Amino acid sequence: MPVRNLATPRVRTPHSATVAPTPVPASQRTRRADAVDRVDRPRVQGRSSAAAVAPKRLDKLVELDFPALPLDAHGHCAPLSLQVPANAIGLLVTIEGPENGYYLVDQFSGPRGKALVSDGSTARGTRRRTPQPFDSPNRSVAGMIPGTGALLVPNSSSASLCAGAWTLRVCGTDAQGNPVRGPVHVRVQIKVAPRLPRAGRLDLHLHFTGARGLTAAAARRSRDFKETLVEVRGIFAKVGIDLGTITYDDVSPRFQKQAIDGADSKIGKMFKTSTDSSGVNLYIVKELSLVDQGVMSAGPPGFSGGMPGPANAGTAASGVAMAMDCMRPACVMAHEIGHFLGLFHTHEQFINAADPIKDTPVEGWGNLMHPDEGSGGPNLTPGQVRVLLAHPLVQITR
Ligand SMILES: [Zn+2]
Repeated sequence: MPVRNLATPRVRTPHSATVAPTPVPASQRTRRADAVDRVDRPRVQGRSSAAAVAPKRLDKLVELDFPALPLDAHGHCAPLSLQVPANAIGLLVTIEGPENGYYLVDQFSGPRGKALVSDGSTARGTRRRTPQPFDSPNRSVAGMIPGTGALLVPNSSSASLCAGAWTLRVCGTDAQGNPVRGPVHVRVQIKVAPRLPRAGRLDLHLHFTGARGLTAAAARRSRDFKETLVEVRGIFAKVGIDLGTITYDDVSPRFQKQAIDGADSKIGKMFKTSTDSSGVNLYIVKELSLVDQGVMSAGPPGFSGGMPGPANAGTAASGVAMAMDCMRPACVMAHEIGHFLGLFHTHEQFINAADPIKDTPVEGWGNLMHPDEGSGGPNLTPGQVRVLLAHPLVQITR
């Protein structure tokens, strides 16, 4: 899937007082894998044999909430202050705002002025030759779907978190790059683990549109589909991430054909049907298409609601979609899950940029995150696995 590289306005960095988070009520915190499932429709669950004696989840999430933040005339919110605890291994920022906006984090700085994301502006309003969000030590891109945005830290080899006071700023612009006024809702989830993680578990929530006869019940019986899942399970198991609970649900057949952009796109509406925040929500559709200057063309075989996607279900970015009739469906499925958990392509096809992870192969051959997801491979590097383990949806088990 293509990367949207949002330019941010050239403006002075505000030095106003920072905004502190609003406490998150227990009832609104991200539902954890070990929480009781509440669903209002029949569902089928599957569980890997490895997960039958599922190891305990070792990490904890600290959640901070910044509701109803106005954006100024430049599309910026006031700086948000947050305290990162010791032993933080990942931090996910999720932004939701009016649907005329594309949102991203354009500043994220820690103790002693350590900037992991920068828009390149300075206190005097001129740009130094410092990196902009995309080229920052921790890459930051705008949401793929209007009305949403997210950032995972770390997503590169040069980014890491440390305990202390951090400051965050969000920027929103419309499709033409003009500032939008919000308000936006910013959620920060900080993942804390007692030691450096070595292994994890990921739940998968499958949603079927009935495309090519695949309903929830039919998929459970389908040999082809089972083989695809076995292959996906193998790709992640090789790097220490087990697929845990897998659920099967049906969604409306009207979602079978999806344009992933354009005014008529309903992909965000489809992702909003997700209700389970304990894993990646994956939608099986018939076809994905792109709209270029009003002309519709065949799209990629898969599409992720974001890079990363949010850890909360029910947003316009809370899912991954794929068409099953592609070449190597297991690689496509795992590739899109990789995007959702924060990975970029080893190198981008349409802009001259390699991913920010040092140990990925330059040309990407054999790697799961090769930009042509049908011709990559099943491999993930230790640097990529570090990113996957940072996302709150991956439960740390070892
Ligand atoms: Zn991709």
